[in-house]
Amino acid sequence: MEQRVYNFSAGPAVMPKAVLKKAQNEFLSYQQSGMSVMELSHRSELFETILSDTESLLRRLMDIPANYKVLFIQGGASLQFSMVPLNLANGKKVAYIDSGSWSKKAIEEAKKTAEVVTIASSAKNSYHTLPVIEPVTEDYAYVHLTTNSTIEGTAYLDIPLDKFNGLPLVADMSSNILSSEYNVEDFALIYAGAQKNIGPAGVTIVIVREDFIQSLPELPTLLSYETYANANSMYNTPPTFSIYMAKLELEWIEEQGGVAAIEKANRKKAQLLYDFLDHSDFYTSPVEAGHRSLTNIPFLTPSPTMDEEFVIAAEASGLTNLEGHRVVGGMRASVYNAMPIEGVEALIAFMNKFAVANT
Ligand code: PMP
Repeated sequence: MEQRVYNFSAGPAVMPKAVLKKAQNEFLSYQQSGMSVMELSHRSELFETILSDTESLLRRLMDIPANYKVLFIQGGASLQFSMVPLNLANGKKVAYIDSGSWSKKAIEEAKKTAEVVTIASSAKNSYHTLPVIEPVTEDYAYVHLTTNSTIEGTAYLDIPLDKFNGLPLVADMSSNILSSEYNVEDFALIYAGAQKNIGPAGVTIVIVREDFIQSLPELPTLLSYETYANANSMYNTPPTFSIYMAKLELEWIEEQGGVAAIEKANRKKAQLLYDFLDHSDFYTSPVEAGHRSLTNIPFLTPSPTMDEEFVIAAEASGLTNLEGHRVVGGMRASVYNAMPIEGVEALIAFMNKFAVANT
């Protein structure tokens, strides 16, 4: 089937068609090598160039200062839930902000190796808002926050830096890296799985300030940031094809005008959908205005039964993967960078039709 659907999946997620086409064109023989990228040795010059180009692109797009390392790691963002405390806690307490299901998982994992203090939580609000953060007065090795809660649809688009008393900040940016602008220098460490805004699953990006990379010989080799930093992410075989696809997607982001232009487009897409929800008598947004994500937009019909009917009918109209995460129900439209505005317009047109037919 040549025809593509509008894929609202939370991840792995839609990728730009131009990126997929380019990969297809280069698939059988990458740069006259007579091999696919998947068949190249990771020690080959061709792959080393792919890796260094990917890093340079990311550095340009996020304006990453020279005193930060960019690491390419496997194991997903979930492995970072363990690696962050193992590498950064230094026997001190660590502070976490509990803004949703993924923060909660990060907290649970950190508790296995560090003394965790949850300094703010919106669990009581079912995570429909961001937590209220009181100014931090105690000393912690770092403060961890999730910039975008993929499941609940909230986001810190502005980081409340004034609350953290200058403590090192660690961010899980898995679901909004490169979709809106952040200042890398505000963070000691940023991590993000690739499968939403960067490329396919398989590679996780870690951006870490050099002075937070320590020699910790007691750690298993592959759990230490130092291993990746010293070996240019090539201590062992990196996920070569995922990195190549990430390079193509980063090139695409640059062609769109970079992160500022992408953010502008994302704000326009999100605004269209939120405006529609806020003016609807049929649909509702569970997330309070001012706390809303640009990339993951949950919504509800008047009943759970109708939510199920909606998802099935939408699927039949070429609007796929709109069911909400199993822990929250309802619907969720993930509108990452590669979702064109036409996809959002098609979704709204369908929502209108469905509402009329069911009222
Ligand atoms: N953090 C956030 C914010 C996420 O959205 C996800 C994945 N949906 C994860 C962590 C876990 O990522 P992975 O599956 O790559 O381990």
